[in-house]
Amino acid sequence: MAHSKNLLVLENFIGGKFVPCSSYIDSYNPSTGDVYCKVPDSGKEEVEAAVKAAKDAFPIWSSKSPLERSQILSKLADLIEHDLEAFAQAESKDQGKTITFARTVDIPRAVYNFRFFASSVLHHVTECTEMATVGCVHYTSRAPVGVAGLISPWNLPLYLLTWKIAPAIACGNTVVAKPSEMTSVTAWMMCKLLEEAGLPHGVVNVVFGTGAKAGEALVCHPDVPLISFTGSTLTAQRITEKSAPHCKRLSLELGGKNPAIIFDDADLSQCIPTTLRSSFANQGEICLCTSRIFVQRGIYSEFLKRFVAEAKKWKAGNPSDPTVNVGALISKEHLEKVRSYVKKAQAEGARVLCGEGVDSLALPAGNQKGYFMLPTVIAEVKDESCCMQEEIFGPVTCVVAFDTEEEVIKRANSVKYGLAATVWSSNVGRVHRVARRLQSGLVWTNCWLIRDLNLPFGGMKASGIGREGAKDSYEFFTEVKTITIKH
Ligand code: NAD
Repeated sequence: MAHSKNLLVLENFIGGKFVPCSSYIDSYNPSTGDVYCKVPDSGKEEVEAAVKAAKDAFPIWSSKSPLERSQILSKLADLIEHDLEAFAQAESKDQGKTITFARTVDIPRAVYNFRFFASSVLHHVTECTEMATVGCVHYTSRAPVGVAGLISPWNLPLYLLTWKIAPAIACGNTVVAKPSEMTSVTAWMMCKLLEEAGLPHGVVNVVFGTGAKAGEALVCHPDVPLISFTGSTLTAQRITEKSAPHCKRLSLELGGKNPAIIFDDADLSQCIPTTLRSSFANQGEICLCTSRIFVQRGIYSEFLKRFVAEAKKWKAGNPSDPTVNVGALISKEHLEKVRSYVKKAQAEGARVLCGEGVDSLALPAGNQKGYFMLPTVIAEVKDESCCMQEEIFGPVTCVVAFDTEEEVIKRANSVKYGLAATVWSSNVGRVHRVARRLQSGLVWTNCWLIRDLNLPFGGMKASGIGREGAKDSYEFFTEVKTITIKH
């Protein structure tokens, strides 16, 4: 590892080589508040070099068979898996998440992303139709698009970046990736494994830096015909504007304000632990986290009592302590933003039942300057409150009562977002009925976060445009052509 005054110094990865940058950004360890890493502050020049390397690599990579590409992806999965503990430690330190979460969710999923697309790319079939009366056969042919621009957020750094890199290169594209400037370390570690995996130089290039400089240079580059972006709705609006003059293909995976709807026939012994996880896992910094809990009036008091009692058991502290459930939030600014929502809710007359401002946060000596917050449950919040309308993206969830199925569907849909919802009921007819009417790209009933990567992932309304998954990513990362043969 490169170090300067004991700081870890990252370099861009362009054309198979690590390349230093002329300026750097400080990167913090969220659990201590200390600067521990320097991230390249790349701009147009670095993006230009990366796009050129990706363009140069495209003819060779795109002409390889799916099987050849698949073997390289599988090898890369094995190499990351071999170093799983080192990746998990790095992700936890860089992002603030618990080591347990990084070990059991982030890095295993990054491995699986490569393994999954290594397999799925072998099994696509294209369409064919026949018009016997005019002696014609039509079929579709798919080809990689070119240089893919991939931009990812800080909450699940390697997990989400590889969810883009794997399908993009499996389909024969070459890529320029830009991870979040706040969590760049595991992407940089992955670059060290690419050559050993057998990836030709220039197929994967990683340019580190801010969204405003490096991200925008990538979005505006005329030789990058498609952008796959995961991040906030606000940034997606900017990316849409900036890419419009080039008519770029966009996949946008954005924010959420996800409801959990709990009917009075729900199995609370399953529902309560799962809803705690869906609200507070990864410090609530998952786009799929529950932040509005609608509980049917008959069980409202019981649910709230049991839910709050369990939430109070979640321990916040040093992310490398395996007994800790809540790590540090990503940054000081983000912590302040999340806290400000709790204050606003209080000012509006809502009741904060546990966590922020209610329970005391006992942190180890080394973590006193870290960005920690306890799981916070707010009740009696009005539907029109900013706490019920805006994405908070922290360990805060609001619990409100409802009476009827019709009413709760309307209220759950009354936000600008439409990413994920959970429905809890033992009435099979009801869960199907409600799931169909929710404006949400994903609906989990009586569970949360169980994913089959074959199926579409993505949001409706302000939560995104497009879907990702085996077939959807294949379609996004390839250009289709319809060919007609008259015989
Ligand atoms: P963000 O939009 O601030 O940043 C995301 C990425 O975009 C970063 O790499 C950033 O540097 C880059 N970026 C910022 N401005 C840019 C610009 N003008 N041009 C190009 N790139 C730019 O989001 P964030 O704060 O990193 O992540 C949190 C958000 O991501 C939340 O809203 C969360 O819901 C969302 N998210 C969505 C999903 C999903 O799958 N739907 C998954 C994870 C996170």
